[in-house]
Amino acid sequence: MSRLVLACPSLLRLDGGRPSLIGSRCAHCGEVYFPSAASCTRCLGTRLESCDLGSTGVLWSWTIQGFLPKPPYDSGETADTFRPYGVGYVEMTSGIKVESRLTSADPALLRIGMPMALTIVPYRWSENGEPVSTFAFEPSGDPVKEGEHD
Ligand SMILES: [Zn+2]
Repeated sequence: MSRLVLACPSLLRLDGGRPSLIGSRCAHCGEVYFPSAASCTRCLGTRLESCDLGSTGVLWSWTIQGFLPKPPYDSGETADTFRPYGVGYVEMTSGIKVESRLTSADPALLRIGMPMALTIVPYRWSENGEPVSTFAFEPSGDPVKEGEHD
């Protein structure tokens, strides 16, 4: 089995192949950040701890990215090979809203408030010809469970 190369290894953790997002939580006031922050914009605290944000949430808002984004977007696609993708904010059980790629680009399959689950999707090819993956959220039939975050 080939190893999984992630475009954003600091943003998630793989536990037995199951991904979860990693953010940070202010030790003083409890504010949660994604990506992880070095200081808290709410209380100016500088003691933040790594925080597992889990792998499920609900779709809070979404749109379809219909044209090739400008750098730093680095998928390797060109204007001719680009394929539209969904992008949205997913509200995690901790309450934080995470901006993410979505697995669906079909407006008929996306609705605000629907349950979403974190997954890993192909993103681009490395210079060595290895597939590089990133995270995305996919519609999930599973109900969002309370207390899944820590
Ligand atoms: Zn704080």
